[in-house]
Amino acid sequence: MIHRLNAQKEWDLIVIGGGATGLGIALESVSRGYSVLLIEQADFAKGTSSRSTKLVHGGVRYLAQGDIQLVREASIERGLLWRNAPHLVKNQTFIIPVYTWWDRLKYTIGLKLYDWISGRLSLGSSVFISRSKALQKLPNIKADGLVGGVLYHDGQFDDSRLAINLVQTIIEQGGVALNYMKVTGLAKDDGRHISGVQLRDVETNTAYFCKAKAVINATGVFVDEILQMDNPTGTKSITASQGVHLVLDKKFYPSGDALMIPATSDGRVLFAVPWHNKVVVGTTDTPVSEASLEPQALEKEIAFILENASRYFVQQPKRSDVLSVFAGLRPLAAPQKDNQKTKEISRSHKIMVTPSHLFTILGGKWTTYRKMGEDMVDRVEKELQWPHKKTATRHLPIHGSIANVDLGDPLYFYGSDSKQVKALMNGHSHEWLSKSLQIHEAQVIWAVQHEMARTVEDVLSRRTRALLLDAKESIRMAEPVAIIMAKELQKDESWIKEQVSSFIKLAEGYVLR
Ligand SMILES: Cc1cc2nc3c(=O)[nH]c(=O)nc-3n(C[C@H](O)[C@H](O)[C@H](O)COP(=O)(O)OP(=O)(O)OC[C@H]3O[C@@H](n4cnc5c(N)ncnc54)[C@H](O)[C@@H]3O)c2cc1C
Repeated sequence: MIHRLNAQKEWDLIVIGGGATGLGIALESVSRGYSVLLIEQADFAKGTSSRSTKLVHGGVRYLAQGDIQLVREASIERGLLWRNAPHLVKNQTFIIPVYTWWDRLKYTIGLKLYDWISGRLSLGSSVFISRSKALQKLPNIKADGLVGGVLYHDGQFDDSRLAINLVQTIIEQGGVALNYMKVTGLAKDDGRHISGVQLRDVETNTAYFCKAKAVINATGVFVDEILQMDNPTGTKSITASQGVHLVLDKKFYPSGDALMIPATSDGRVLFAVPWHNKVVVGTTDTPVSEASLEPQALEKEIAFILENASRYFVQQPKRSDVLSVFAGLRPLAAPQKDNQKTKEISRSHKIMVTPSHLFTILGGKWTTYRKMGEDMVDRVEKELQWPHKKTATRHLPIHGSIANVDLGDPLYFYGSDSKQVKALMNGHSHEWLSKSLQIHEAQVIWAVQHEMARTVEDVLSRRTRALLLDAKESIRMAEPVAIIMAKELQKDESWIKEQVSSFIKLAEGYVLR
């Protein structure tokens, strides 16, 4: 990738940010035939894009807020992503437990509308289920006063695995994507229009300069840092809202159906979603003033989730039952009114173009990443008066895409790559690194050789999901992973030591003591 970076005189587009948004824009542009360079300062999906609730959804909540346009757009994208990445997106049933007859009426009608909005791309029809069926499907749910449940369909996915597969697709289409490369400045040729970016290789400290016809700022909660490089006196365009998730053993929620609570004690939505043999419970919505790549869950957020989960799980989880806690920051367009709550700010995306032609995208969600890419490239073509090219991503299979996915296979999420990963497992005397998480040594080798993993954290957090699934177990795995990686990357003993200690320091933030 660095060789190709040096060889290219000028790029049509440089995309800053290797999260869902930047990846969507890079794939959209490369598939339309443009030359594209995608730059990520840390690892792909290191930011918000590996910390979502793991839903590919139309957004039942946005329907309640009356944002039909957003629900329609997200429902279409949900259906397209399910078709383009069937190895990562699964049709998931959700149940809303209903305790009053009024709620029965409200949710039955609301979810029928939700089905209808997605039209042909619906994942299945919603139905009201009786009290006895609800109790059978939600074995630990509180039975007192339960009237029944409303069952509906949405998508569920693995966010960082999708990000890695998108990087592979971008490269296969002819683009260049680099992690651990930071944009440090913007260049203006004629003093007016942006003509390129200054980069720094975070691993070697080498500086680069790359010319581009269009520069896109897709840096999520960091967009203002890039906007400042263009205009140091600009006003704030983004506000960040933190969301926290707790991961628990399946015994607290031993159901194949996800649980959706539309209004918790303070009116927020709470999900309990089965994920890689565990259950993910969340989330919160807490305004934060600082953007960070490693946001930390607040005690009050942890208490809120545990308290609310306990209302619905008969077996009540304690702090010591939490296998991992992770926090992410929602990049929301700055509020229009001073007193607007973050949960009320629209999740739809917004594109801004500065007089110097810096293209910035704000807001959005994982589910709509492709449409965000399409809208951004349309806008670049329009602003720079390039001839319009039609989108080519609506039906573009994403790397790994395979028909007939066997969800019972522990390596199902590799899709078409799983054969090669299994061959690597069988070919050498490799061992299981974690039997409980079903993670094998061969997956580390695969991640280094084929998925651009550079650090122990890349492997344990985003190529496999060990850190999010069981933080203590991931700490135990750090040293063997570092040893395998050092061999692959030709690193020495001091690299191993440094990697293990920095991973353990980071992972301690995911453990609840
Ligand atoms: C708690 C929570 C739950 C969510 N759940 C869902 C869900 O279930 N479904 C859904 O559809 N959406 C969900 N979302 C929304 C979704 O996750 C986000 O909209 C999406 O991930 C944002 O992606 P992004 O690329 O804009 O930002 P990010 O993923 O943060 O990516 C921005 C990237 O830019 C990089 N960067 C910054 N500065 C530079 C620089 N100078 N040089 C190079 N790179 C730079 C950063 O390192 C970062 O990786 C959730 C969000 C949160 C917070």
